[in-house]
Amino acid sequence: MYDVIIVGGGVIGASIAYHLSRFQKRILVIERDKVGSHASSAAAGMLGAQVELKPDNPLFHLARASQLRFVDLVEQLENVTEEKLHLNQNGIIRLARTDEELMELAELHQAQSAIGLSSQLLTYDQICNRVRGVSPAVKGGIHVSDGQLEAVRLAPLLMKVAQERGVEVYENTTVLSLEIHHNEIRGVNTTSGQYFAETVVLAGGAWTNDLLPDEYHIPLYPVKGDAFSLRLPEMELMHTLYTKDCYIVPKSGNRLLVGATESPYEWDPVVRMEELFKLFLNASKIYPPVLDGEIEKTWSGIRPQTKDGLPYLGLDPDLPGLIYATGHYRNGILLSAITGEIVTDLIVHGKSSFDLQPFAPERWRNKHAISE
Ligand SMILES: Cc1cc2nc3c(=O)[nH]c(=O)nc-3n(C[C@H](O)[C@H](O)[C@H](O)COP(=O)(O)OP(=O)(O)OC[C@H]3O[C@@H](n4cnc5c(N)ncnc54)[C@H](O)[C@@H]3O)c2cc1C
Repeated sequence: MYDVIIVGGGVIGASIAYHLSRFQKRILVIERDKVGSHASSAAAGMLGAQVELKPDNPLFHLARASQLRFVDLVEQLENVTEEKLHLNQNGIIRLARTDEELMELAELHQAQSAIGLSSQLLTYDQICNRVRGVSPAVKGGIHVSDGQLEAVRLAPLLMKVAQERGVEVYENTTVLSLEIHHNEIRGVNTTSGQYFAETVVLAGGAWTNDLLPDEYHIPLYPVKGDAFSLRLPEMELMHTLYTKDCYIVPKSGNRLLVGATESPYEWDPVVRMEELFKLFLNASKIYPPVLDGEIEKTWSGIRPQTKDGLPYLGLDPDLPGLIYATGHYRNGILLSAITGEIVTDLIVHGKSSFDLQPFAPERWRNKHAISE
């Protein structure tokens, strides 16, 4: 009998295991493939609270709180594992290519400055003083303090430390269904047998509904994203460049990561030339030095998106013993730290200091219709 079973070994499941492993609990993580092998290893690693979310979005305060935890989290993980996550805190420059985009950025800058966030409006010349090689097609931008890290190593390192603290991890094991008795969660049925626990945490990313009885399905859908990386002869880019349809993220070893496409309802992980071509064109229009790069690799990942754009995070009031931690869409790396902390608080203390109402698992059940 376990205290907690976590279904899914992506960055969300791994962060929950990491945070929970500080307490005297018997914890099992069950992962269908390898730890961090799906969306979590496809990510660009941006901790993009300011570029991705407006301050009036209910998710913003969670995203910001999570972002602020990363300096300590990365330090702890790097100290224990002696591996590098390459946290880059030079900030992200969001670029405008039209007058309309310039106005949007001015509004965003105003909203962020009003709540004391670091945000600088930049002219094209000011951008060129910070970044050599930006295209003259760019009209201006804002520089925000969002960082970025090597996402592909995050879930494995979180899980490695959790395992060192006693968490058990079963890879290549699929959870087939939840074990429910008299409307209470008792455990899970898997390809290697039945496991019992007081609490089951659903962190199955885009596949979370596979485990839920039909009447409990949440409005979750896949959004496939393609990305690629390049090697440059020398690296001059120190900041992440971000627009509405692509971003260019400088990585260690003279590499640039270019992402990402958005294909809603697409489960097929195949990387299509048509999508990559659009991405490459968009990247070369804002930062022509990408044309000097050698393609390193291409890949895709399936993001878990929800109908109202907010994650499902919290206890299910109708199925005691079940906790949801899914639907983090484009920001699961960013939100992983706070999600791990919140789920741990729910399990250990029965409550969280954050207002989880906007993310309540049962919110869709209370609505007559969910708009498509
Ligand atoms: C191209 C791309 C770029 C991105 N860039 C960023 C970024 O810069 N910053 C950011 O914050 N986010 C980014 N994201 C989003 C981020 O990657 C996701 O939000 C995050 O990885 C979701 O984590 P997860 O653990 O919920 O899902 P996943 O990583 O998909 O993990 C879910 C896991 O559950 C397992 N699972 C599912 N069902 C079962 C089952 N029945 N039994 C056992 N195991 C099961 C799966 O095998 C999988 O490993 C990006 C995503 C993509 C695709």
